[in-house]
Amino acid sequence: MDDLFLKIVDGSIPSKKVLETDNVLAFHDIQPAAPVHVLIIPKKYIPSMNAVTEEDLPLIAEIHRVAVEVAKKLGIAESGYRLINNCGPDSGQAVGHLHYHLLGGAKLGALTG
Ligand code: 5GP
Repeated sequence: MDDLFLKIVDGSIPSKKVLETDNVLAFHDIQPAAPVHVLIIPKKYIPSMNAVTEEDLPLIAEIHRVAVEVAKKLGIAESGYRLINNCGPDSGQAVGHLHYHLLGGAKLGALTG
């Protein structure tokens, strides 16, 4: 399986890590869309939100906890931030490994469809 983010998890592709737990990794996006743009991923392979099972729900909770910790660590917890998941072609999901974009550090534009 050719999974870019598993290569980031195993270190064969380098990344700028922000925070790591046994199950979750947070690292800076290579092409930031905001002053703070961090990707938060499960270390295990899940292709998209559509593939999240009941068993994965503690992991999804952990991702949310990590998002808050990252926001605090990078000083944007109070100024505010956005957590986004792209799922499937219409969303623009380009990497087939579940990931959440944490964006902040500036006033963000309105969500558009
Ligand atoms: P998607 O469009 O799938 O929701 O988002 C994928 C994100 O992964 C994009 O924001 C893109 O910039 C980021 N990305 C793609 N390749 C790499 C990489 O090799 N390293 C890092 N840190 N981010 C990447």
